[in-house]
Amino acid sequence: MKTMEYISTRGGARPQDCAGAILSGIAPDGGLFVPHPLPKNAMNPVDYLGKNYRKTALAVMSLYMPDYTEAELKQYINAAYKHSFDTTLVAPLVKQGDYYFLELFHGPTLAFKDLALTILPHFLKKAMEKKGIDKDVVVLTATSGDTGKAALEGFADVEGTKIIVFFPEHGVSLIQKRQMVTQKGKNTYVLGIEGNFDDAQKGVKEIFTDVDLLNKMASGKYVFSSANSINVGRLIPQIVYYVFAYMKLGELEGTVGNEPVNFVVPTGNFGNILAAYYAKNLGVPIKKLICSSNENRVLFDFFSTGVYDANRDFVMTMSPSMDILISSNLERLLYAISGENAETMRQLMNSLARKRKFEISSDMKAKLTDFHGGFATEGETSSSIRRVFESTGYLMDPHTAVGHAVYNKYVAETGDSTKTVIVSTASPYKFAASVMKSLGLQCEGDDFQMVKELNRVTGVNIPPQIERLEEETIRHTTVCRKEEMKHHVMEILGMV
Ligand SMILES: *Cc1c(COP(=O)(O)O)cnc(C)c1O
Repeated sequence: MKTMEYISTRGGARPQDCAGAILSGIAPDGGLFVPHPLPKNAMNPVDYLGKNYRKTALAVMSLYMPDYTEAELKQYINAAYKHSFDTTLVAPLVKQGDYYFLELFHGPTLAFKDLALTILPHFLKKAMEKKGIDKDVVVLTATSGDTGKAALEGFADVEGTKIIVFFPEHGVSLIQKRQMVTQKGKNTYVLGIEGNFDDAQKGVKEIFTDVDLLNKMASGKYVFSSANSINVGRLIPQIVYYVFAYMKLGELEGTVGNEPVNFVVPTGNFGNILAAYYAKNLGVPIKKLICSSNENRVLFDFFSTGVYDANRDFVMTMSPSMDILISSNLERLLYAISGENAETMRQLMNSLARKRKFEISSDMKAKLTDFHGGFATEGETSSSIRRVFESTGYLMDPHTAVGHAVYNKYVAETGDSTKTVIVSTASPYKFAASVMKSLGLQCEGDDFQMVKELNRVTGVNIPPQIERLEEETIRHTTVCRKEEMKHHVMEILGMV
């Protein structure tokens, strides 16, 4: 069998091995690297029954990263998952009432991004070594709130790297912002931008493909990479927990066989749910992937109509990490359902760039049946938080609550009684103010007061990372316009 390569969705870049794709981040033709051939039915999840997270991770990652040795992967898996999470399970599956939650917020920064960003720096360092690169890697990252902190934490003081994060100055929760601007490490740079996440993401993509800048870089001492989910090094670790959750569900219910399961994924940039789609291809018997949006319901409309239309108002919601209108990773799904047709992808993505809109063919639309798109209003999200807390004492963050609300609507519509796992993407304490409000509780003071009050009322423990935060020194204060992003990057790199 031909070994797996990573090819660009737009067909205009040289194929890479995994290390090469991780180093590049985005493909030079503006496309995204995808594994080719995509591993299909390459594992039987039942074989991993009773295996711990790290063993499962090794099995999954080996399939997508043939150019990394087993010893290398083992070393990185241990470094990332052995001690950095507050539970040895890493990603526990918990049952609350009729619901199963896959808790992905037990890492250093309390959101699911940690599952990938604790290990990505190891992949990247090794990739530099494998490619004989003696330049420093500049990890350029746009964040809707959680990627930024997780990437900063992962890359802080990693030799041979600099990490630059752009976040929407007015588009993240106060706790998320405080987590980022207090980041230590002499290679860390955090900048607020006057704009939303889409602006930040677009600015970063433009810098990656800026010919003038790339020429300067070529003769200088830096190369760019990305910690966003456009980097396959983010996606691969995310596949692991879908395999793991499937087995945990089987263990919990004593039903392991090939019983199908649904996953509900609170979605923004489409990275997490794309990993679930890859897991399904891999052999996890997934019936529906329930793509849950907040009031920025562009994906819901897309799944209903086949038209992706970002010409609409950007809504600021209490699930800011999903306040996104251009979902980058959808490109990887479109590529798969187009029959891996790069020409089609160039057309669709050109249309998106020019008109902020595209429409897929009816053939492609017919291949979207693995997915169900839903959305939740702010009111529905709040009422999910409140109802679940009142009936079970379980506290959901607003992103998870979007998933919960969408799932309830899905069941009402379809009557589907398949066992379903709601992917729980963040700790409620990252969004204490919105959670308090949703519970109908009054609270004076700033977000740190809210954290304390939320703890007093609910009895749910405050994660130590949040408890410490109030005292931490603020180290990053730059705010810039989106037009100035490139200039700031050049300044950080000593190029102006
Ligand atoms: C990033 C994020 C999401 C959205 O994930 P995507 O991979 O961008 O779809 C959902 N919830 C939380 C808490 C997040 O941080």
